[in-house]
Amino acid sequence: MTALETTTASSEQVSGAEIRLDGVTKIYRGQKAPAVDNISLTVPAGEIVMFVGPSGCGKTTTLKMINRLIEPSSGTISIGGEDIRGKKVDELRRTIGYVIQGGSLFPHMSVAKNISLVPKLLGWDSARIKERVDELLDLVGLDPAKYRSRYPRELSGGQQQRVGVARGLAADPPVILMDEPFGAVDPMTRQRLQDELLSIQRELRKTIVCVTHDIDEAIKLGDRVLILQEGAHIAQYDTPEVVLSTPANDFAQDFVGAGSSLKRLSLARVSDLELRMPTTATIGEDTAQVRRRAEANGDNAVIVLDSRNRPRGWPWLRQLTGATIVDPDKDPVTLDTRATLNDALDTMLVSGHGGALVTGDRDAYLGVVDFRTVTDFIEAMQREAEAETAPSAGGTDEHPAERISIAPTDEELEQGQA
Ligand code: ADP
Ligand code: MG
Repeated sequence: MTALETTTASSEQVSGAEIRLDGVTKIYRGQKAPAVDNISLTVPAGEIVMFVGPSGCGKTTTLKMINRLIEPSSGTISIGGEDIRGKKVDELRRTIGYVIQGGSLFPHMSVAKNISLVPKLLGWDSARIKERVDELLDLVGLDPAKYRSRYPRELSGGQQQRVGVARGLAADPPVILMDEPFGAVDPMTRQRLQDELLSIQRELRKTIVCVTHDIDEAIKLGDRVLILQEGAHIAQYDTPEVVLSTPANDFAQDFVGAGSSLKRLSLARVSDLELRMPTTATIGEDTAQVRRRAEANGDNAVIVLDSRNRPRGWPWLRQLTGATIVDPDKDPVTLDTRATLNDALDTMLVSGHGGALVTGDRDAYLGVVDFRTVTDFIEAMQREAEAETAPSAGGTDEHPAERISIAPTDEELEQGQA
């Protein structure tokens, strides 16, 4: 199913509002050339639209005009059919979440205080705010009990970014604007945050406009991708599939890159793969019993789930002794079902099991995906793409199979653990 079909299928749950830009121009004072030159654009309700383009092409300017951090020189912008100039600026901004790089948290405020800024302004009572903060922390994958009272300096970059996202969502705004939200974190954390965003979006169906300079991120996250060139001129505005397969012009072509097979890996998701369902156990269960069950299933490891069905351990059978079956300091390697196959390969390389635990909404366990499944799938995709584009144009793109040949076998893995 494509992203567009998904949107249509669940349109009754959409909580976002349509955004329209009509002939919008911004000329900064003292400059001749417009930073944004007459852009017209509709962002459908409930979709993620990714603005992508080179530095200085006008992405941030366009974004900031939507919440009136910048006023257009001319043109109209409407949200949910209403001209945004019809509202007071403060009021407008309370209905638009805004997430920027690093999370931009106030350093002297706790996580809870940071998240509750807008709900406070809206006059929510303290019980409702407290509940909302915990709900949001949970949603962005941070344990409320552990994190609500911490200060930003006590968090990693990725955790700060998560809190930034929670703050953007706090008052349940129909529209969320994000400006390079995951630009400042390491690639592994970025991947998790992207997955988290897709997971959140599946539940919430906001209208999200997200700026990035990274075409891979645009393709992964976007229901649609808007490729901009200087002056915010639209080079192409379409689904990731079309942008990859049929660049509209030379600029789009260059920006997307040579339609590489690796980029196509970003279109396929873990959810497209078949999952294995090995033996599971619940925290606190008797290990002798668990071991018997696993042996009967022919498994040499078990997946330990907590009371909310989240994976907490993935011990080999011989590690199962005594009563406790979870090492609280060692969370297993997990992969969100929305992760791309590209991400999947990266994640699996650090897994001790030659595969990864797949999780869905709120980190709930879904099954196991093995290396072999991924590589088989990629090879099939590869064959399909080659059949499409034969004769091959060559190129220097790394072949996916080369990336995974360094993967250890199951036995090597188990020995490594012994
Ligand atoms: P992007 O986010 O795509 O990198 P921006 O929207 O930040 O691009 O900038 C678009 C153009 O407008 C650039 O040429 C930039 O130098 C210029 N610009 C951005 N902000 C200002 C400003 N406050 N004053 C003057 N020029 C600006
Ligand atoms: Mg910018």
